Order: sequence, then structure tokens, then C-alpha cells
Amino acid sequence: MNIRRSSLQWRYTTAMVVVFMLMLILTLGLWFQQMSGERQTFEIARQSTQSLLRAQLRQSGEAQVHQLADSLANPLYFFDLEDVGNLARDAKRAPNVTYVLVYDPQGRILHDGSGDIPAYGRPMQDALASRIVAANGPMVLQAGERIDVSRPISVGNERLGGVRIGYSSSAAAQAEEETLSGLRSRLSEVSRRGLWGLLLMCLGLAVVCVFGAVMIQRILVQPIRKLADAAREIESGNFSSPVPVAERNDELGDLVHAFEHMRESVARHDRDMRRAAYSDALTGLANRLAFRADLEQRLREMHGTGCQLALLFADLDDFKGINDTLGHEAGDDVLVQTAARIEHAVAQKDGARTLVARLGGDEFVILLEAVAGTDLRGQATRIAEALVHDLAQPLLLHGRRLVLGTSVGIAVFPDDANTTSQLMKCGDIAMYQAKFAGKNCFRFYSRAVDEDAMQRLRMEQDLRGAWERGEMSVVYQPIYRTRDRVLVGAEALLRWAHPVEGAIAPEAFIPVAEQSGLIDEIGEQVLALSCREAAQWPALADGSRPFVSVNVSGRQLRSSGLFAQVTEALRKSGLAANLLHLEVTETAVIRDVAHAADLLSKLRNLGVRVWLDDFGTGYSSLNHLRRVQVDGLKIDRSFITDLLDDPGDLALTSATMAMAHSLGIVVVAEGVEQRGQYDLLRERDGDFVQGYWLSEPLAAVDFVRLLG
Ligand code: C2E
Ligand code: MG
Ligand code: MG
Repeated sequence: MNIRRSSLQWRYTTAMVVVFMLMLILTLGLWFQQMSGERQTFEIARQSTQSLLRAQLRQSGEAQVHQLADSLANPLYFFDLEDVGNLARDAKRAPNVTYVLVYDPQGRILHDGSGDIPAYGRPMQDALASRIVAANGPMVLQAGERIDVSRPISVGNERLGGVRIGYSSSAAAQAEEETLSGLRSRLSEVSRRGLWGLLLMCLGLAVVCVFGAVMIQRILVQPIRKLADAAREIESGNFSSPVPVAERNDELGDLVHAFEHMRESVARHDRDMRRAAYSDALTGLANRLAFRADLEQRLREMHGTGCQLALLFADLDDFKGINDTLGHEAGDDVLVQTAARIEHAVAQKDGARTLVARLGGDEFVILLEAVAGTDLRGQATRIAEALVHDLAQPLLLHGRRLVLGTSVGIAVFPDDANTTSQLMKCGDIAMYQAKFAGKNCFRFYSRAVDEDAMQRLRMEQDLRGAWERGEMSVVYQPIYRTRDRVLVGAEALLRWAHPVEGAIAPEAFIPVAEQSGLIDEIGEQVLALSCREAAQWPALADGSRPFVSVNVSGRQLRSSGLFAQVTEALRKSGLAANLLHLEVTETAVIRDVAHAADLLSKLRNLGVRVWLDDFGTGYSSLNHLRRVQVDGLKIDRSFITDLLDDPGDLALTSATMAMAHSLGIVVVAEGVEQRGQYDLLRERDGDFVQGYWLSEPLAAVDFVRLLG
């Protein structure tokens, strides 16, 4: 029997042992008390027997001495020694008599019951003699084991002497002993029976204790222990095994029923909580937690089996813009529609075990599992293509058509990584690779470009707060009127002096700032600073004021805040609206022509000039120029570079200038590095020029000096 400390059974056993010990002590106490009572009873009996027997002896002695004294009076009076002798001898023959002495008034012995009386005439010399002789009446004296009874003998007033009889008390003692031994054996018989009774009682109690312990063990301890085991099972998350306690119709049965109900409700709650914890509330897809758990389990199962797994990491392009411009409700709507499209696209490509999850924000993942020998990469490619295609279809949002792209990164187990975290990291990097590749496409993870992607991620980190830390500045590249080479304005160009890497080219960091959304804040700062500085520039020789031309990224163009930023920058700096030029690229305009046209026309209504930058590198479709009203075109540097050597470039540039002029649009030529280029542009009626041949970008103070 396993008795544990502080268990119910242990406590019961301890209590029973204590009770048993108390009973034992009580029993022993009772027994000892009985023994001492017995001893006292015996002593009292002994004493009373003894005094009874002694009183009896004395009484019979007194009667005998009295009778003998009466009988001796006459013979003594006549001094008939023969009669005295006969009477003395008769008396001596009585039981217990040890001596008989008849004496004269002086205490001399007259007769002692013997034949020849050897002591005749001798005075009595024992210790009692003097008192006996002096006594006037009967006397009983004790001397050791002997009782001496005496009586004086007188006739009238004449004292004739006396008689003494000695009785031995040993006979009385023997009689006493015989009487008491019977009593003793009776008493010990009674105490033996009492002891047996007590022992039987103790034994009975012990049996009751053991029986009680067994019953408690079976009725209470065992079921409670099983309940405790079942509770531990529940605690460890096993809700399926029923409580192994037999049906009972008592309080414990009620407890077991209550426990069963509790187990079922805990199991139900657990299921609900798991469902809630493992699913995404918005889309109903598995969430990050469920996805990680599933991926971990799959990877565990797949190790060494030759099976493969692809992780598709999908991220909506520019989703933040939706939240910013249309609000979070619209953003949620987009996510729900996207989730449904992803599920649909994945369901179409059957044949593999798949899982679709939303990791959070606009990030979705798809797990694709394939047995050894299957073309997993082919399957992943087909799904990724379907995703990119399906998600690029216009979404209907409160009656508005919205086109969003998706970038998908694909990582494959075990080729790219073999742990959950690594695989997710690779998927994430691959997704970034897709973003950097121009968005709305998919990319398989590649170790070679991994480093490149990481560098971009690092750059994004470094870019955060770079303006506030004073690492960024704006330089101004002079722009001249072609006709007379008069300085008329400048293009504001952003510079970043990285604290470790040094100067980083805008071509390297502007795309990162755009992709991460940081351009929204940085662009606003560039705009504000450029306006502030340009407002301070001195007037030109002809009295007119120089303009400043600020680059605006596609992302800024799509965000809702640009118009407010421009008006705010103008208001704060006091710069005239017509002295601010905004350079937008063709590609940025084409992404959402309607929106761009609307915004740019509002800006032009303010008086701000809009120039189309990098013209010729994108779609170069003058068709757009009809819908999006601009004030100028900046012919890209790549056309100017080969202007003198490549007749094609010259023809294109000349045609662009002619067409622009026919639409009333001015033309700016960028990247003029040689005198010949400048001369040619002047010949062909180019309006403005900008290039290293004229001036490199200058720090603000140097530009003011140039104006000076
Ligand atoms: P962009 O707007 O086309 O700017 C002209 C670029 O050509 C500038 O490069 C300028 O330094 C360079 N350039 C001018 N003349 C010559 C020349 O004779 N020869 C050569 N080889 N290059 C010349 P930068 O400053 O490196 O800027 C590169 C691009 O970065 C800009 O192209 C623009 O798209 C972007 N960028 C610069 N600053 C900003 C900004 O504040 N906001 C935005 N959104 N983009 C900016
Ligand atoms: Mg520019
Ligand atoms: Mg340009």
C-alpha cells in the first residue's frame, strides 16, 4: 500500500495509530489499577483475618483462664497440689497452649502442668512476670508470636496467687495463611479474566482500525487519487480519457459527475480557444501561430523522407497606401477579398497538401507539400503565377475599382533552409527580392541575391531617422535658359551622408525609401526645405526670381497628403507658387492616371509647374500628356549623352521638342556634358539645359553665391 505523507490515507492511519496507542495506554492503566486494587483488597482481607483470628484466640484464652482460675481457687486454698496439677495438665493439653503456670502471690511457680515440677518455688523471671504478678485483674499481653493470658486467684479478700496460660499465635497465622491463599487464587483468577477482556478489546479495536483503513482506501482514497490523476491529465492537455472511477450513487459519485462535466466544458473551451488562437479573426485563415505550429510539425515529419515543401510568402504592394488614403475599413475589405482569392487560386491547383495563412498585416503565406520525385518548384511556380495574376485583377471597393499588385517570395525546404525560422526568413527575403525586382511578380529565394536583399533591408533601417539625425541634405543643380545661357533656377537633389558608408547615391537609397514608405516623410522635408531656401534666393539680373524644381516620387504622388504638403510648404516659406516646379516620372503617373491627373491639375491651378522627369525612359506616350496636363518635359540624360553620335537619339529629341512645343510644353535637357550637346540643343530650340558642362549640383550657399 502506497502511503504518502499528508495523503488522506496517511492522516487516517496516523489518527488510527494514535487512537490505538491511547486505547492501549488506557487499557494498561486500567489493568494496573485493577492490580493495585486487588493488592489493597488482599491486604485488607489479610489484616482483618489476622485481627479476627487473634481476637478469637484471645477470647477463648480469656474464657479458658477464667474457668481455670475458678477451678483452681479451691485446690489452692487447701493447697492441694495434686488437683492443681491435674487442672494445669488438662489446660495444657488444649490446642495452641504452649505453657500453663500457676503461681503464688509472690510470683513463685507452684505448678507448670509437668509431672515433677522442676520449676517449683522459683520466681517467674520472664519480661512480663512483674506486671502480671502486680495486676489485680485479668491481663492479656503479647510477646512476639505468643499471647499471654493471666488472672489472679482470690478467695474473699485473700489473694491465693494466679494462673498464666501462654498461647502460640503461629497456629493462628497458619489458619490465616490457609484462609488467604484461597482468596488470593480467586482474585488472580478474576484479574486474569479482566486482562484477557482488555486484550480482546484492544485486538477488536485494531481490527476495526485496519478495516476502516481498508474501507477508506477503497471508498475514498482510491477514487480521489484517480480523480487527481485525471485532473493532471486535463492539466497536461489530454481531455479525451474519461475519469476511471466506477459509477456510484453517493457524494463521490456526484463529484465524479461534476468532474466529468467540468472536463467536457474545459475541453470545449480549449477547442474554442485554440480555434480563436489559431485563426485570423478578419479572414478566417490560419494565423501566424497556427502556421508556425503546422510548419514545425511538417518539417519534423519530413526530415529524411525526401519530401519537399515550398513556402510562398505573398505581400500586397503598396497596401499601406490603401489604409492611408481610403481608411482601415477599406483596408480590411481588401484583405478579406485577397484572402478569398488566394484560397481560390490555391484550391484550383490541387494535388498537394496546402495551408493558407495570414501572418498579419498584408502578409499571406501558402505552404505547399510534395512527395519525393514531384516537381515542387513547377507547382510552386504555377501557384505563384496564379496568385500574381488573380490578385492583380481589379478589386471592387465601395464602387471603386482598385488595382493592387502582389509580390511573392518562394523558399523551398530542404534546398534553401531546414528550420521553420530559416525558411520563413528565406521566404521573406525572396518576397523582398520580388519587390525590388519591380513588384507584382514572384521570385524564388536565391542565396546570391540574398546578400543584396539584406543590404537593402539594412539600408532601410539606416534610413529611418536619417533626416532627423542631420545625415541628409539638399544640393541644387543650376538650370539655364538655352537661348542665352542665363541661370533661371535649380533642381533640388537629395544627398545622404551615411555615418559609416559615406555618401550614398540617390539611385541606391531612393528606391529603398520608396519601397519602405519612408519617402513620404523625407519628400515632405525636401519640399519644405527647398521652398524655404528658394524663397531666400536673390532676384536674377532681369528682376525675375529663380525657380526651384523638386523631385516627387511615385509613392508621394499616390499618397493623399501631397497637395496639403505643397500648400503648406508654400505658405510657410512665402515662395510664389509659380517658382515651385514638381518633377514627376512617367511611370509614377501611369500607375493611376486618373488620380495623378486630378492631383496635378489641382497643383497647377495653384500656380505650381509640373515637369515630366526622365522622359523617354518609360512609356514615352504623348497620349498620356493629353490626359495629364504638364508644363514641361525633362528629356532623360541617356538621350543627351549620345546626341552627337546617334542620329536616332537626335531625331527622337528633336521630334519630342517639336511636339512638346506644339502642345505648349517647355523642354528641359538633362545631362549636358559637352559644349557640342549644348549648341545642338540651342539650335533645335531647347528651352532649358542642365548638366555638368554648365554646373554640377551645388551646396545651398554655393548656389546662392552663383546667383549673387
Ligand atoms: P533626376 O531627377 O533625373 O536628376 C538628375 C540626375 O542627373 C541627378 O543625379 C544629377 O546629379 C544628374 N546629372 C545632372 N547633370 C549631369 C551630367 O551632366 N552628367 C551626369 N552623369 N549626371 C548628371 P542624382 O542627384 O544622383 O539623382 C538621381 C536621381 O535621384 C534623380 O534623377 C531623381 O530621380 C532622384 N532624386 C534625387 N533627389 C530626389 C528627391 O529629393 N526626391 C525624389 N523623389 N527623388 C530624388
Ligand atoms: Mg529630376
Ligand atoms: Mg531626370
